[in-house]
Amino acid sequence: MANMINLKINNIPVSVPEGSTVLDAARAAGVVIPTLCYLKDVNCVGSCRMCLVEATGARGLVAACVYPAAEGMEVQTNTEKVRKSRQMTLELMLSKHKKECLACERAGNCELQRLSIEYNCDPNYFASDETRHPIDYSAPYVVRDRDKCINCMRCVAACNKQAVGAIGAIGRGYNAHVGSAFEMDLMSSVCVGCGQCVVACPVGALKERTTVDDVWAAIADPQKKVVFFTAPSVRATLGEAFGNPVGTNVEGKMVAAIRRLGNVEVFNMDVTADLTIMEEAAELVNRIQTGGTMPMFTSCCPGWVKFVEQKYPEMIPHLSTCKSPQEMFGGLLKTYYCEKNGIDPKDLYVVSVIPCTAKKYECTRPEMGGEVDTALTTRELARMIKTAGLDFNALPEEEFDNPFATCSGGGTIFGASGGVMEAALRVAAQLLDGDFEVVDFPEVRGTSPIKEATYKIAGKEIRVAVASGLANAKEIIEGLKNGTRHYDFIEVMACPGGCVNGGGQPTLPDSIRNSLDLKSLRAEALYKSDKKNEYRRSSETPVIKMIYDEYFGTPNSHKAHEVLHTHYHEDKRI
Ligand code: SF4
Ligand code: SF4
Ligand code: SF4
Repeated sequence: MANMINLKINNIPVSVPEGSTVLDAARAAGVVIPTLCYLKDVNCVGSCRMCLVEATGARGLVAACVYPAAEGMEVQTNTEKVRKSRQMTLELMLSKHKKECLACERAGNCELQRLSIEYNCDPNYFASDETRHPIDYSAPYVVRDRDKCINCMRCVAACNKQAVGAIGAIGRGYNAHVGSAFEMDLMSSVCVGCGQCVVACPVGALKERTTVDDVWAAIADPQKKVVFFTAPSVRATLGEAFGNPVGTNVEGKMVAAIRRLGNVEVFNMDVTADLTIMEEAAELVNRIQTGGTMPMFTSCCPGWVKFVEQKYPEMIPHLSTCKSPQEMFGGLLKTYYCEKNGIDPKDLYVVSVIPCTAKKYECTRPEMGGEVDTALTTRELARMIKTAGLDFNALPEEEFDNPFATCSGGGTIFGASGGVMEAALRVAAQLLDGDFEVVDFPEVRGTSPIKEATYKIAGKEIRVAVASGLANAKEIIEGLKNGTRHYDFIEVMACPGGCVNGGGQPTLPDSIRNSLDLKSLRAEALYKSDKKNEYRRSSETPVIKMIYDEYFGTPNSHKAHEVLHTHYHEDKRI
């Protein structure tokens, strides 16, 4: 156990473990110190100067996020000197910031706006720099507006944590700004679209490329039949946009809200998460039994797939050929569903609601055939619900529309790191050994960056690994290449903690992000739902049985390959 040190924050005595910062000690004392560049687990560089405090023994003000707490130290976080310093820092930021708060998507949820109000700032105290730069609309998933950036560098840290490094600090002094190498646009850079920079950004400088207007237009078009489907993790996060505590499952209200956006049907993407598992488990077992390319990697995360295509093309044969649940749903709707209901596929407008910015890119990939017309992030869905004037929390709980309503618990846990692995093991184990009854694989749950386990199934040792966050995936690939790691099946999710922490999820203020474990709380909502489900294995649900009986025959059949599988290709980048 760490040694404890005693100090006072605003005269409040507090004990914290040795090695804590003044910011940690303040939090332990219940005192909030404002931060802009600091973000727990992402960025801690002490550069924005918002967290300056007075501390005994220090010369001048010190940055609480990096200044070590010491025995006997007395810290003051709210003196005149501290307040004036923070106010001036904010006013300097505002002098360069494009002040479009009236129509900025982050208005009301912007850290700069909130602090400027709290510190009674004059936005025009310093002469404004009106220099404007083009907004980067190159990518179909993220938009960058340099003139709203406050150079906090959270996005750069988030991207470096992903081992991608698509963005960095460019220029010096007053001209320093964030951009890609050689001032490339985002789409030309090595960006994989994960959106971790977007959820890290405290202001409106980064946002998703919205397609909300396209969806409203489709809803208003009498020629179009509009169907929505929602990814597993969205039900565990959408409520946050309406003031619900982190980890609240709002599935029933989410369905009711979408249904009230217009004449639309609302399906459950957990159904095609189940379908993905049916195809992926069969592919894994086939590779094991026929000596196919091993180990096999999951392929349901488009950020991860793009990372492999760009950085490790030699690993492409190791990726499962399964499409993601989003793209399987698109394929299923534009074939089976249209044929069954006599709908011309061009009259069906398919809207996927996802936790993810990379899936916005995925549905534009030529290999996917445009079967998903557009993908909305959780944040965009929340905005549509607000635009429609719905009182979300007062809505009744409603159920998904048939025939794509009922899922297994395995489909639901797809949204958390380890969930795809666990769902696949439930089905693959039974394919290998019909008497295998276990459905819980707790070793692959949780938020550890890399999880490993070995299971004995049908006399074979199946070695599995789960990585979330691309730096951890990189560690696994390097280990496979240098012979220090050995697995049969590996799940990778680009976002740390999996889709519950995706780049399209609600942006929460630092005060929440820095104090709660979002990944665990959101994942817990999905595991609770799994536990209550009468079907734990993807193979057990009546919907999956119907889809195979009526259309695909068996997993990995010729027809299943045509609709549910894809291919990848090397993507050479500098
Ligand atoms: S979307 Fe992901 S890869 Fe692209 S710049 Fe942002 S953090 Fe980096
Ligand atoms: S884009 Fe956002 S996160 Fe990145 S440096 Fe600018 S303000 Fe910070
Ligand atoms: S982990 Fe999920 S949210 Fe993140 S990029 Fe992959 S699919 Fe999207």
